[in-house]
Amino acid sequence: MEQRLRGNTVRYEYVVRKLVEYLARKASGMTQRYELKDLVGSTASYLLERSFERIAASLYKTNGGSLWCRLCERGPFTKKGFYLHLIRVHYHELEYIVEDELRKALEVVRR
Ligand SMILES: [Zn+2]
Repeated sequence: MEQRLRGNTVRYEYVVRKLVEYLARKASGMTQRYELKDLVGSTASYLLERSFERIAASLYKTNGGSLWCRLCERGPFTKKGFYLHLIRVHYHELEYIVEDELRKALEVVRR
């Protein structure tokens, strides 16, 4: 899986886009539409799942049952509203985080 990812730019960009969505869904508490292991293989998905847990928790705070964005302090948001906010306003920040985590996970897999 990781070999296919590295050698194929189109596939790589697709996976990064899906991982950004996955992370945004996790942070906003929405149901996932796919599983990480289907995107990156089971070993990398195990590592990514753990780092995404931690990162997702750092993206929001809750107050009075609503979600607030920790990246820009805006809110309150519903789950869906927060998801859309992350995708529309912070896409590139999430993309940067995801690429970094994906690289680290794939390095471990390669060892
Ligand atoms: Zn924000």
